[in-house]
Amino acid sequence: MTTTAIPVVHASLGEAELEAVARVFASGWPAGQGPEGGALENELRHALGAAEAVALSSCGAALHMALSALGVGAGDEVIVADYTFPAPAHAVRYVGATPVFADVLPETGTVDPAAVESLIGPRTVGVIAVDTLGLPADYAELGRLTDQNGLFLVEDAACALGATYQGQPAGRLAPVACLSFHGRKGISYGEGGALLTQDADLGARARRRSSFGIGSIFEQSSVIGLPIPDFEEAGYNYKLSDIAAAIVRVQLTRISELHARRAEVARAYDALLADVDGVRGPTVPTDRTHAWQSYLLTVDDDVDRAELAADLRSAGIGCGHGAWATHLQSMYRGGEACPASAELFRRSLTLPMHAELTSQDVTRVVAALREALDTQARARRAVGGGAR
Ligand SMILES: *Cc1c(COP(=O)(O)O)cnc(C)c1O
Repeated sequence: MTTTAIPVVHASLGEAELEAVARVFASGWPAGQGPEGGALENELRHALGAAEAVALSSCGAALHMALSALGVGAGDEVIVADYTFPAPAHAVRYVGATPVFADVLPETGTVDPAAVESLIGPRTVGVIAVDTLGLPADYAELGRLTDQNGLFLVEDAACALGATYQGQPAGRLAPVACLSFHGRKGISYGEGGALLTQDADLGARARRRSSFGIGSIFEQSSVIGLPIPDFEEAGYNYKLSDIAAAIVRVQLTRISELHARRAEVARAYDALLADVDGVRGPTVPTDRTHAWQSYLLTVDDDVDRAELAADLRSAGIGCGHGAWATHLQSMYRGGEACPASAELFRRSLTLPMHAELTSQDVTRVVAALREALDTQARARRAVGGGAR
């Protein structure tokens, strides 16, 4: 019964992106912090109303540079959303501080402001909220809490470009925001990220620190004279290449087109799944919109998720487990308990979600899901019947 496979993710990269790459080849500057990177930073600044935008090699690098530029270090605690790709907690570790895990709201998977509040202590310096799989967190409450307590607030918007919260775009929902251009996210070039901030000095520190501590070689080579930059700190090399920046610039112009298609796919899944027993679709509160990086199902307690995933994959349909309960990863065990996050980690399943899906693909995914769930339900009834 094999027809073509339907992958869980498929980046929408085409002719326009190829032309952008050709333009960089012709320019002779493929490395980072060149003209394309500068143009991308301007466009991000403009699109998201930031004082500073720094193009970086990944969102992981952006989170690291954000905490480093905020001055976080040993002895500090940073409260992080637990249900996520664990990059926020890793970033806290990179700077020698301690991540404190805040549980999430079961309906949205976004960090629970009440959990954050209960974890604020004398060593807390800030909070990293996550726009879970593209759904923004509760920034009104989080902003109030962090302001009242003199804490910083970082938005991990890795999955969220295209989403909104109370009319504002993801990427400008906190004073510092981190983006990802990884191939698995909504807009992509392969690998890449950016740091956005309302604080120009913080942005400048992050920029210098992300290029070995000396700033843009391209700019220095473009002035008349021979300025020799001085190394004052052991910076990192987290620059985004101009090849990548050129591709991301094209993708930025396509956000609404790619997002509209994903939203259509989500609506089609919602409609087709309404009468499927055994799984529940995602919840989107009315004050925000979803970027649909993933379409996350929650399977009922009596459904065997691993078997369901195996059935889908053997039918050529990609699926995944969604995000992680960070506090359950072996390197973070022993931290705060986050039962809602643990439950999501155990019971979530993501279906194919990208802008290249056709309505026939969506129909085929749901038909395969329905068939696999029916098979399981019949097996459970047979076992239950035999035991009695
Ligand atoms: C994917 C992801 C990251 C990491 O992004 P990279 O660009 O791959 O470093 C960070 N945070 C969240 C929430 C993510 O989903």
